[in-house]
Amino acid sequence: MAHMRIVAATRNKKKLSELARLLGDIKGLELLGLDSFPDCPEVEETGGTFEENSLLKARSAAKCTGLWALADDSGLEVDALGGAPGIFSSRYAGPDADDKKNVQKLLSALEGVPPERRTARFRVVVTLISPEDETHLFEGKVEGSIGHKAEGGSGFGYDPVFYPRGFDLTFAQMPPAEKDKISHRAEALGRLKAHLRRILA
Ligand code: IMP
Repeated sequence: MAHMRIVAATRNKKKLSELARLLGDIKGLELLGLDSFPDCPEVEETGGTFEENSLLKARSAAKCTGLWALADDSGLEVDALGGAPGIFSSRYAGPDADDKKNVQKLLSALEGVPPERRTARFRVVVTLISPEDETHLFEGKVEGSIGHKAEGGSGFGYDPVFYPRGFDLTFAQMPPAEKDKISHRAEALGRLKAHLRRILA
């Protein structure tokens, strides 16, 4: 049985514990956070795509720690806005943006846009990279549309205005376990897990 140490390129404790929960059932895997490596630099997300930003973060963590590294980059693409907010999803409403301001800005930008033109998707790219720069990318997406007002209290980000296709509930109105079955992140991490199981078998 092989053993593998992976550093997740995040200092966000919530993100790390979510990852640890989702990958916890993979035997032979030891997951660390960047908090265990205080000297590793913060990475500026200067890429133009989810792929590039995810790769920048993963590569920096692998270089700095000498370990395999894992990073993700995600966001919301709205068709009527030409794919915005995209890679700028977390900072859409400006330097002091928070989830509420971002959602408000999105609803304003879509004012007067009819339901059939409010299509959107969440996307995520997860990168797994070795210290020798061997890279593996895992993508996930979930199609849906943007509502006319915020509904529901669970989740984060744009969840209160995102209706996954085929559902009459926003992500924020669904129990987290239901979101976890269909989300972009679940899809990408499912692919990552299949890969890790193969190489650790
Ligand atoms: P990241 O941490 O750079 O990947 O930024 C992701 C941003 O995209 C978050 O701050 C949210 O605004 C948005 N986002 C990504 N995934 C989700 C999701 O599952 N629900 C709601 N918003 C999301």
